[in-house]
Amino acid sequence: METGIAELSPFDLTGTVHHDGHGGVADELATISGFLTWAPPGTAEDLRDDVIDVRRAVRALFAYATGREDSRTDPGLSREEALALLNHYAGRERVTVRLDWPDPGTPPLLRLTGTADLPARLARSAAEFLSGPLRERLRACPAPRCVRYFVQDHGRQTYCKTSCANRARAARHYARNR
Ligand SMILES: [Zn+2]
Repeated sequence: METGIAELSPFDLTGTVHHDGHGGVADELATISGFLTWAPPGTAEDLRDDVIDVRRAVRALFAYATGREDSRTDPGLSREEALALLNHYAGRERVTVRLDWPDPGTPPLLRLTGTADLPARLARSAAEFLSGPLRERLRACPAPRCVRYFVQDHGRQTYCKTSCANRARAARHYARNR
């Protein structure tokens, strides 16, 4: 589909909330300037609330898919509410179907063109991810204080990043030596 803008992964969105390094949670979309820094160039600032809505829906569905209970970042959306919210934004995408057949000697060409704002594209990318084969490798990082989701690689990756693995190892060491 030609939407003219690079696709965004749902992890670009869910990763906008993360451990702040001091025991709390940082939100890159908490301010307009943070949102505009994160969003693709030219994004209207009034889409911020909608993008945050999509993030709530996606994080709730990721929590559901992984069994994580994360009341710090994703309070109070049931699976049904999260699906309704995601589908509300996914439904903003408009697709035009066009069949071209310029030369009888060649096969006809199907052209799909679409228009979608940022929340709609994020909602679609999350819907595609959740309905695709990578969902089975979706993991919630179990490191202390981490709120990230990631796709497990083909090894036995447990944590989203090396820094999380190190923090978890330090926490285990600390617990053992108390
Ligand atoms: Zn992590």
